[in-house]
Amino acid sequence: SAMMVSKLLLAFAFCRLMATVGLNMGPAVELSRLGIDGLLTIDPSAVETASIDFGLMTRNPPLAVLHPASADDIARLIRAAVATPEEYGGFTVSARGHGHSINGQAQTGNGVVIEMSSGVGGVDSGRDFPPPPIVSEKEMFVDVWGGELWIDVLKSTLRYGLAPRSWTDYLYLSVGGTLSNGGISGQAFNHGPQISNVLELDVVTGNGELTTCSNEENPDLFHGVLGGLGQFGIITRARIVLEQAPQRVRWIRVLYSNFTAFTRDQERLISLHAKPKNEKFDYVEGFVIVDEGLINNWRSSFFSPANPVKISSLKKADGGVLYCLEITKNYHESQSLTVDQEVEALLKELDYIPESVFTTDLGYVDFLDRVHTAELKLRSKGLWDVPHPWLNLFVPKSRIADFDRGVFKGILGNNTSGPILIYPMNKHKWDPRSSAVTPDDDVFYLVALLRSAIDNGEETQSLEYLSNQNHQIIAFCSNEGIEVKQYLPHYTMEEEWAEHFGDKWPEFQRRKMKFDPHHILATGQRIFSPSK
Ligand code: FAD
Repeated sequence: SAMMVSKLLLAFAFCRLMATVGLNMGPAVELSRLGIDGLLTIDPSAVETASIDFGLMTRNPPLAVLHPASADDIARLIRAAVATPEEYGGFTVSARGHGHSINGQAQTGNGVVIEMSSGVGGVDSGRDFPPPPIVSEKEMFVDVWGGELWIDVLKSTLRYGLAPRSWTDYLYLSVGGTLSNGGISGQAFNHGPQISNVLELDVVTGNGELTTCSNEENPDLFHGVLGGLGQFGIITRARIVLEQAPQRVRWIRVLYSNFTAFTRDQERLISLHAKPKNEKFDYVEGFVIVDEGLINNWRSSFFSPANPVKISSLKKADGGVLYCLEITKNYHESQSLTVDQEVEALLKELDYIPESVFTTDLGYVDFLDRVHTAELKLRSKGLWDVPHPWLNLFVPKSRIADFDRGVFKGILGNNTSGPILIYPMNKHKWDPRSSAVTPDDDVFYLVALLRSAIDNGEETQSLEYLSNQNHQIIAFCSNEGIEVKQYLPHYTMEEEWAEHFGDKWPEFQRRKMKFDPHHILATGQRIFSPSK
């Protein structure tokens, strides 16, 4: 049967892998000669998991999967890849965090996927590997395994009343995965992205060396790895900055029909970053409402039927598009009296539709973990494991109004198939030495089109339709000279990568030569073709 054939092929692939690393033995043998303590497996379900991702648009089965038992295991595997003679075809190595990429970035067909997050047993598991998070209360940081999920980082630091400062909207992502990109959410205007909140890393480079790096020690590797799309090494430990954890969150949404008023207010709010804590919000995001479908949408628990305002009655002539500003104020229970005044003072300055204030109040963890609640709902309807043709763009502030006209009020029509986030960030909070790429303006917006393709016979929900729209949006920006940068970038040709990295491209290439000269790592990003 097809199943048997594929099993045989996998066994063959495994033997080839073993042969290439100098182990001419069958799949059942012990791997002591490689010195790997973890589990190197061709188990079909492990291979299947490693061959797909959240995007569900590309599929690439690896030769084998490694569940590491130590950072040294990772170093040993990479050294074996380095040592593999070219005539055997070589093999590649890709770290996989939680597999929440969109376009196969953690996949590799001709090599081994290292499952960094599986086996992470949560904070209560009493595990000794992966090492549990270790908090330094005095120095306000936590050391975590590279495959740790942010939800578990949060749970472990909260025991000390501490928490990281900069987040992603969703916490079931790995530390190594978000640090390879940036890691952004509504706190980034204030604290910078997650890559601006890391003090030190342990990294296994593409040369198979386990290296500690920071601003002071091996800074070239440190800055290269942050936002480095997995190209220079595999993060096995990260030291993350902590703050005193707030207890509660006042979460507010207000609506705009005028885009200029909306962005003016967002930009004003993020310009307050240097103000004392009580004179600014802790989180600034926003989203676009082009259709009322959003009311039934996964991030819209706010607009419950109990709310007196009907969205449709707010929709004005102005292109029929509404914008929602989303802000929060963190507080300690002892401050529950002053928080109202602080929020009121800040809201007073804003220019939203007066009757459109939606407020809720919840615990800090419930706020940070809000998307997981939505995930569970979508899962129960079978709407989570579907293709996700997501597109994330950084748009310079100077062109955001043109983007609005062309995309939100143009290309998108009145059907979005998922949330569209829009919020500004301050460029100076991004370290220019890191590999991450942002537009030139001092302020730029994230525009995240987080859409799901659904096979329900409706053309506008199909993968093809949504992918086409993404291409139209990119083409529109290029024709109008809007210099967007993709976040979580996806390109397939070297010229495109060179353009994406711009001024940073020569340095990116130099670092590749230095830290992964054999092009072993994260080939799923399709930046450098395997040289072996
Ligand atoms: P993977 O997809 O497993 O890996 C991503 C890349 O990093 C791959 O190239 C992989 O080889 C490499 N990699 C993985 N682990 C390591 C490591 N330890 N060392 C070196 N390289 C490694 N991003 C935001 O910034 N903000 C958000 O609010 C946000 N929300 C999201 C919500 C959802 C529902 C989803 C699916 C994604 C979201 N993302 C967000 C994107 C997310 O940050 C990226 O997908 C990121 O890659 C993290 O996912 P992961 O840990 O599963 O990494």
